[in-house]
Parts: sequence; C-alpha cells; structure tokens
Amino acid sequence: MPADDVHIHDMPTHDPTAHTEDIIVIDNLYKIFGSVMAVCGFSLRVRRGEVVVVVGPSGSGKSTVLRCINHLEVPTEGDIYVDGIHLEDKKTDINAVRAEVGMVFQQFNLFGHLSVLDNITLAQRLIRKRNRPEAERIAMEQLERVGIPEKANAFPHQLSGGQQQRVAIARSLAMNPKIMLFDEPTSALDPEMIKEVLDVMLDLARGGMTMVVVTHEMGFARSAADRVVFMDQGCVVETATPKVLFNEPKHERTKLFLSKIISH
Ligand code: ADP
Ligand code: MG
Repeated sequence: MPADDVHIHDMPTHDPTAHTEDIIVIDNLYKIFGSVMAVCGFSLRVRRGEVVVVVGPSGSGKSTVLRCINHLEVPTEGDIYVDGIHLEDKKTDINAVRAEVGMVFQQFNLFGHLSVLDNITLAQRLIRKRNRPEAERIAMEQLERVGIPEKANAFPHQLSGGQQQRVAIARSLAMNPKIMLFDEPTSALDPEMIKEVLDVMLDLARGGMTMVVVTHEMGFARSAADRVVFMDQGCVVETATPKVLFNEPKHERTKLFLSKIISH
C-alpha cells in the first residue's frame, strides 16, 4: 500500500510489527528476580522464517528471555509482540499466543505414564480441540518427521534421551506453531545422541520455521542460524551472522566467551 493511502488513525498505535516482517519483537525487556537483574534492556527483532541462535555464559539471562516470549515469565518492564500481538496487554489471550509458540526444553518434560502417541495428542486435543483420530494422524506425521514412527506405542522410559527429545519436538510441531523456541535442547544428551536431535532442528530450519535457539552447538549455529546473538549480563553484546560473530567478534567479552567454548 502506498504511504499516502494510509490514514494515520487507521494505524494501530502500539504495534511496531504491523508493517514489518518481524514475527517477534522484544523491546527493552527487563526481568528482575528479587535482587537479581536477569535481563536488563534486551531488545531483539526476529523476522518470519528467521533462525536466531542465542549464546552466552550461564546466568546471562538466555532462558529468561525465551520464557518471556511465551509469557512463562512476566517481564518486569518492556514490551514483547508475537505476530503483532502485545503480550503485556491485559486484553491479550496468552493461551492463544502460547499455542502458536512451541517450546523445547533441556529436560524433555514428557508424561511418563503416557505413551509417546498420547504425549503428542494431549495438547492437540485439549487446546486445538482435535478429535482423537485427527490428533493421532497428525502425531504420526510428526513422528515420521522426527524419524521414530515405530515408537508411537512406547513409553518415555523405553526411549533413549535423543528419542525422547525428538518426541518432545514432535509434540510441539503437532500444534502447528508459528514459532519454535529451543532452550539448550541437546545439553542433557549423551554426545552420540546430539546429532540426531540437531538434524531434526536443521531440517525444521530449512523448512522455513521461525526459530530462536539457545545452544552452544556451534556447528548447528553455523549451518542453521541467520544470526547469532551473544548476550551477557542480561543484554545483547553483539549480533551478527554466525560467520562474522565466530570469526571476527568485535567485543572483548564475545572473544573471551568464544575462546572458552570453542577450545573444549
Ligand atoms: P541462562 O539461561 O543464560 O543461564 P537464566 O535466564 O536462567 O540464565 O538466569 C539469569 C539469572 O536470573 C540468573 O542469575 C538466575 O539465577 C536468575 N533467575 C532465573 N530464574 C529465576 C527465578 N525464577 N528466580 C530467581 N532467580 C532467577
Ligand atoms: Mg538457561
């Protein structure tokens, strides 16, 4: 639409995403826990289909930022918009926003007493209101996608860690999210299982999913990330393509951090 066709009073006043490709907008986010400033002045915009990897020392606020994106934590200050919806607006239906944002944690959080299939159909039936046959059909599609359809009737304790994490990813994908958040998804896995999970994530990234991934898997970042954000002490230190950030970091703090993680 040409600019002169837009009438000023037709424009939403508080929606910075309205005329952009940004599906996530985080604007000057603060999160304080008692005396701990977990996040202080963090801003980030993620375009539709973009893959952003977040790295940083332990305690730098990475998990808190991810948790604020689907409102598992309520910001102390600042604004977050997901697909144009302002999370801090009291009128916003947070559960509706959450249904569009899948999250995969370090711990897989599967229900131990439910089969793989039931783990994947539960939220679909409760939140997406799908009937059992439809939810099961979608669950099987997602299990195929993560490469373990034969595990549909197994229970979580019968699976390896890598397989459990793939079930957790399938469970998220079955909800047809617009965005996937990953918080150190391979950190709890034995080394030989890391690749099978990263391969699923790489596939997802190549398929055009918008992803924000906290990980120290630099190989993944190099092949999947459009941008890498280095954060420290609750805010962004620098953001660049993986090639630039890993090969020519600008800030001393970034150099120091990278020297520690790449050397081991
Ligand atoms: P990271 O994921 O980068 O390791 P976190 O976001 O988990 O960092 O934590 C950032 C800081 O906030 C840490 O100092 C952590 O101890 C603190 N923190 C995180 N969650 C809570 C909480 N629920 N209560 C109190 N402090 C918290
Ligand atoms: Mg964390």
